[in-house]
Amino acid sequence: MKVLVINCGSSSLKYQLINMEDEKVLAIGLVERIGIEGSVLTQKVNGEKYVIEQPMQDHKVAMSLVINALLDKEHGVISDMSEISAVGHRVLHAGQKYCSSVLINDDVMEAIKDCIKLGPLHNPANITGINSCKEFMPNTPMVAVFDTAFHQTMPEEAYIYALPYEMYTKYGVRKYGFHGTSHKFVSTEAIKMLNGAKNLKIVTCHLGNGASICAIKDGKVIDTTMGLTPLAGLVMGTRCGDIDPSIVPFLMKEANMSADDVDNLMNKKSGVLGISGISSDFRDIENAAKEGNKRAQLALKIYDYKVKTAIGAYVAALDGVDAIVFTAGLGENSATNRADICEGLSYLGIKLDPEKNALRGKAMEISTPDSKVKVLVIPTNEELMIARDTKEIVDSAK
Ligand code: ADP
Repeated sequence: MKVLVINCGSSSLKYQLINMEDEKVLAIGLVERIGIEGSVLTQKVNGEKYVIEQPMQDHKVAMSLVINALLDKEHGVISDMSEISAVGHRVLHAGQKYCSSVLINDDVMEAIKDCIKLGPLHNPANITGINSCKEFMPNTPMVAVFDTAFHQTMPEEAYIYALPYEMYTKYGVRKYGFHGTSHKFVSTEAIKMLNGAKNLKIVTCHLGNGASICAIKDGKVIDTTMGLTPLAGLVMGTRCGDIDPSIVPFLMKEANMSADDVDNLMNKKSGVLGISGISSDFRDIENAAKEGNKRAQLALKIYDYKVKTAIGAYVAALDGVDAIVFTAGLGENSATNRADICEGLSYLGIKLDPEKNALRGKAMEISTPDSKVKVLVIPTNEELMIARDTKEIVDSAK
């Protein structure tokens, strides 16, 4: 069975064709600058690049070129569209409606539309992606895999904000959580690495440009750091994470900023970029910090402090912890960052093995054999998680 995974952004379309028998990626592609000048599709098969540069006024045109690229006699990987058994779509927000991935039908499309107010940047692009895909594959089953779904097991005390309760019932203001597909993938892999033990207490740390932490008990989410939107929780590349909410009206009055100005400031100009004034990329900040730049050093210190305290909070929520998992760009690649975070967690009996911590690129345990808590690095693979969910749902609907 071959599953096509689609991740549509407002001007981009990422895709992978995965053979589910051996979970091998047959083709991986990215279409950029859809609807703007300089549209380009890049497909890789066995490391070999195939590039198509031509105007793409919308996602439908982009999708037709993706299909052409997959079918291409020289650079493609299939000879007929019927070889694609199912399509898995990444969708940002399902609100409270779905706690797992679902087969797409009219009701599901309505639910995704209803959640545009909660995911104004992503849900419309996800809808466009599904619709343009349906045009070319009207009879192929399609599955929606939501970023929010995995977090739907959170108990009320974790997801209700201390605002008047009507804000929740009337406007849906609550914690939803994001990066669910990544947290689900790495926690599932962690459970396998720990021999499928039952009732495991795991804290997963997805530390990329966006960052979130999740407390997971026996495979179910207990709490997570992102909230109504992906702005909440940790310090991120350009996002501020948790701050005193009064800062918003304070800045609107004192700095004469509009609500949109503050929103833009908190989402795009804050985080380690805002603190350091250098970059949102941790590689640049780590280099500057090494050269003695004080604000870069401060940005890293604040970042690690927030991660450490969030882990501590989740150890309390879980009443203990068996494993801490690091994933995503920074979590998978930065040994110094992992070491700094774990150093502050020595009270939990965590001991890192510096040699193992220095390795990269594969799932591994980086704690010492006598560490009371296992520390794991697991490269995330959201596309594979989407493909696995899609296969499972399509198989069970047969
Ligand atoms: P996202 O999917 O949220 O855009 P990624 O998970 O791809 O983010 O992570 C991207 C970030 O990971 C980069 O901005 C960079 O800060 C960080 N990163 C990647 N490689 C390294 C590295 N070798 N050392 C430190 N940070 C890294």
